[in-house]
Amino acid sequence: MLVDDSKLVYMQIKQILANTNYEIVEYCKSGEDALDKYAQVQPDLVTMDIIMPGMDGLETASILKEEHPEAKIIMLSSLAYDDTFKEAERIGAEAFVAKPLEPNELLAAIDAALAD
Ligand SMILES: [Mg+2]
Repeated sequence: MLVDDSKLVYMQIKQILANTNYEIVEYCKSGEDALDKYAQVQPDLVTMDIIMPGMDGLETASILKEEHPEAKIIMLSSLAYDDTFKEAERIGAEAFVAKPLEPNELLAAIDAALAD
């Protein structure tokens, strides 16, 4: 499940996943949307943007992990700073992948998260 307010990022990730065994089962444009849909969709993995209108991705991830401790979340953001990394780790995110996205880096993070 992909959570990002940017349709361009959705298109980009869709392309990155095109020749893999992974598919996007749900695209959410906001944190609120993601919290609404998670239980119904039950995705293997969530990629979570941080900067979004409304609830940001760190808050969304935090609530998601409280409600669904089994949720696997990869943060995807241009906010590649120590305090953001630490916050993502504290929340229990599997990984942090910096934007602009490197296809191989994203795929490696997804592989690793799903291998646990
Ligand atoms: Mg954004």
